[in-house]
Amino acid sequence: MAKVVLIYPGIGNGLGFNNDSGERSQTWPHPGLALISALLKQHGHRVELIDLRKLSGWEMFEAQCAERNGDGEKVVFGITVLTVNFGIARECASRLKKVVPNAWLVAGGPHPTLMTQQMQETGLFDTLVQAEGEVVMLEIADAIERGECPPAGIVKGKPVANLDDLPFFDRDLFDVVEEPVLNILPRPFLTLVSGRGCLYHCTFCQPAERLMFGGVRNRSVESVIAEIKLLQRSHGLKSTMFQDDCLTQDRDWVLKFCDALETEGISLEWCCQARADIICANEDMVARMHQCGLRALSIGFESGSDRILKFLGKQTTAELNLRAAEICHRHGIRMIGNFMMGIPTETEAEVWQTVDLIKKVRPYVYLISFFAPTPGSGLYTYCERNGLMRDDTDFDNYSRSPSGEKIKGVDYALLRRAYREALRVGEKLSIEEMRRRLKEEMELRPRRVLVMRSVRSDQFNELLDDLAQCFDGLVIDAIVQRGVLDEVNHDRINGEIHPVDQQFLNADRIPEELYAHLRTIDYDAVVIPCLATYQHGYEQPHRIAERILNGTAGRRVFINENREPHPEFHHAIEGAA
Ligand code: SF4
Repeated sequence: MAKVVLIYPGIGNGLGFNNDSGERSQTWPHPGLALISALLKQHGHRVELIDLRKLSGWEMFEAQCAERNGDGEKVVFGITVLTVNFGIARECASRLKKVVPNAWLVAGGPHPTLMTQQMQETGLFDTLVQAEGEVVMLEIADAIERGECPPAGIVKGKPVANLDDLPFFDRDLFDVVEEPVLNILPRPFLTLVSGRGCLYHCTFCQPAERLMFGGVRNRSVESVIAEIKLLQRSHGLKSTMFQDDCLTQDRDWVLKFCDALETEGISLEWCCQARADIICANEDMVARMHQCGLRALSIGFESGSDRILKFLGKQTTAELNLRAAEICHRHGIRMIGNFMMGIPTETEAEVWQTVDLIKKVRPYVYLISFFAPTPGSGLYTYCERNGLMRDDTDFDNYSRSPSGEKIKGVDYALLRRAYREALRVGEKLSIEEMRRRLKEEMELRPRRVLVMRSVRSDQFNELLDDLAQCFDGLVIDAIVQRGVLDEVNHDRINGEIHPVDQQFLNADRIPEELYAHLRTIDYDAVVIPCLATYQHGYEQPHRIAERILNGTAGRRVFINENREPHPEFHHAIEGAA
């Protein structure tokens, strides 16, 4: 039996240590590591995890590495590396080699596959696995067990031809309770994967995606159904999200899966990925999926411009995007709408065409990204050839989050304006109407309020202005994350300002002394600024408000970017689907 320690370095893109961001996807196990762990355990190896998101900092990481090596046996460490985590993974490797010099360190995942040379040049990794790494990881553990030298250097992954030969995920590896991707899905929720690979050719994704996976393969319907039944017995599973790149690409598989759910009498609510062209060509399949528990589809609409869609190799059009949205609305299927701005060659008019599309599609969840080139993709090469790459060799800013600047030649000020406009569902109320609703509908005539910075600083500052205009002499206190203290408008916070040491507000990490102090103030209201289209409901700020207002006459008020006040978080298109 070999001992294998898997490392999850997912703190890049500004997440940082102690990451209890409240982001639901952060509660999902990493599918690659969960599968490797299951396979290793199936073959009798011992597997442990170091999850950087749960650590307080690098000192704790080093201590955990040293601790795992405590009994002097040869330990294999395996790290999965997304491009955005490259700098973090390199730091992990360097610190690991310092505290456990004889550790055998294996790296796998997208970055070692697509940027192998850069990984190799660090000189820190003993084995770099390209593409699917389960079998190689098992071979390394077996070699260590036999006292042999494991495969070193660059090793090509060995794709498993029949995915049914792999075990189900190890659900015990990550110490997490998975949160549903949407608040409409019931708990317990667990993520699943039913297959690998994608048949399509989007230039921002391919051929990188194809290089990662050894061809398009599905697990059998029987295998997926068996896992669902097992999870219903063991975890009480009620809903799932399939993390496959494009589950709907195989119509026969989907229909067989729906039939199996029905004949087996399985009650399950689920969501998965789809494409606009697939939805339009298969409305009957979509209807059948809905009949068998489908609640939401994640759809890559990307752009409202036909020229840009062609440039992206999407094989769709703006018209197909709109028709797909109509079909989803008609069948009561919520949409997680994926859109992209800041694409090379995109004009200002084309950016606004995308904003227009977003408003017409009216998805339940708006995921608007700023294009960042994925290593190994066609558009990455395009950006390199056309001098569009920025000097960010650590790829710290290479996520598609709508912040920061990703490539040269893009007007990011325009994108930020477009982004804000796209998220503004409905018209912004006048100050008079906002005041009327607060006074008449919520019966609020506040003298002193506490406002949480639960949205971006610019949105937070706007709301402070609005509140000050609504009520003369209003005293405004605020809870603000220490890292952004200089971004908020201190002139408007004319009462107390309470800095907290967390990036994302978390009720359990607000010090008890602060709660005790805030409860003595007797607020008329605790205000939670929110976005009308956010999908999760601001659970953490909600909990903080509850703990402050408990036993007082104070009110909790959500106010969105359109100045609409509500006693509870109110999704902009709730009831539309
Ligand atoms: S973006 Fe999605 S549909 Fe397009 S190639 Fe990649 S996985 Fe396939």
